[in-house]
Amino acid sequence: MSRQQTIAERERAQLASYAMHSEDSVGRKYDEPEHPYRGAFQRDRDRILHSSAYRRLSGKMQVFTGDMGDYHRTRLTHTQEVASIARTIGRALRLNEDLIEALALLHDIGHPPFGHAGEDALDECLADHGGFSHNRQALTIVEELDIRYPRFPGLNLCRETLEGQLIRAQKDQAGLSPLLEVQVVEAADSITYDAHDTDDAIKLGMVTVEQMSEVPLISDVLGRVHLRDPGLAGSMLRKTVVHELVDVQVSDVLVRAFNYLSDYAGCTAAEMRQSDFRVGPGPSLAAKKETLERFLYDTVYRHPRLMKVRTVAQNRLKQMYFGYLERHDLLPGSIQQRAAAVGWPVAVGDYLAGMTDRFCDAQFHRYFENSVPG
Ligand code: MG
Repeated sequence: MSRQQTIAERERAQLASYAMHSEDSVGRKYDEPEHPYRGAFQRDRDRILHSSAYRRLSGKMQVFTGDMGDYHRTRLTHTQEVASIARTIGRALRLNEDLIEALALLHDIGHPPFGHAGEDALDECLADHGGFSHNRQALTIVEELDIRYPRFPGLNLCRETLEGQLIRAQKDQAGLSPLLEVQVVEAADSITYDAHDTDDAIKLGMVTVEQMSEVPLISDVLGRVHLRDPGLAGSMLRKTVVHELVDVQVSDVLVRAFNYLSDYAGCTAAEMRQSDFRVGPGPSLAAKKETLERFLYDTVYRHPRLMKVRTVAQNRLKQMYFGYLERHDLLPGSIQQRAAAVGWPVAVGDYLAGMTDRFCDAQFHRYFENSVPG
């Protein structure tokens, strides 16, 4: 019996029939021999984890910048929290945790510096060249830009992993339902940022627990916390509220998914893709999450401190985009080569998108600070 059969057997014993079993993967674009002791999706997970784009997430802001302290999430710790919550949900539903983790680690690696402000600026710069989306950029990175193997460009990930990210990039497109593993990561991303943005915003003093108690989901959570631990206050209250906020959301997603999936025992992953069920919160929690997200948008994401960061970052990125278009000599050789294939605008966009916040600032000050915006 080969090692590979052992992995398939282990998955057959442990995973639900409707999980994406690695033996059923349609494979990779460039054929490769199976690994002796790692399954296909486990290998994808490792390839993403070892990519330079993944490491650079540590220098990219999630919502709050590096000069606002060192408590809050970076794009990397956000990604790790998504992976952890997604694996918790996936394990409970007996789905493929390796694929879930690969998808979670992949989901934000296309983010440019300065979060959504950076994304919007690049999208504007590249408007005549296909625009820019961080979800699509993740695919460009793992299929073209991250060169680390001698026999193929990119990471040569399994089709299922790439398709999961493609679905993120093409939201609202009709067709088959995403694999359950893809849906779990989507649900976990939302659970994660709703919880950690609440935590970070309170910790940074942009909003108080009292103000947030006007939001129905936070007041529900506060009710549960006070019932169990009356008298909690200050930072312990904040931390407990955040733990509870994750727990309430994960539990809701799981109860709903258990109920639904119990009718599908014996179905395969392919059969589940015909179903229009989506892993996610039930209607009541979904409405409460929407209210929380609207509150976070109005009060936190549009807070004057963050609006200022947004304006500065966007002006810098635009100035750098036009600056590099005029100064090809400032671009590394790999980007100059890329320009030969995709043109200078897209290649400059790829270069800027790959930068950490810090590197972007440093390049701006070094070359473009005194240039006139394009
Ligand atoms: Mg995310």
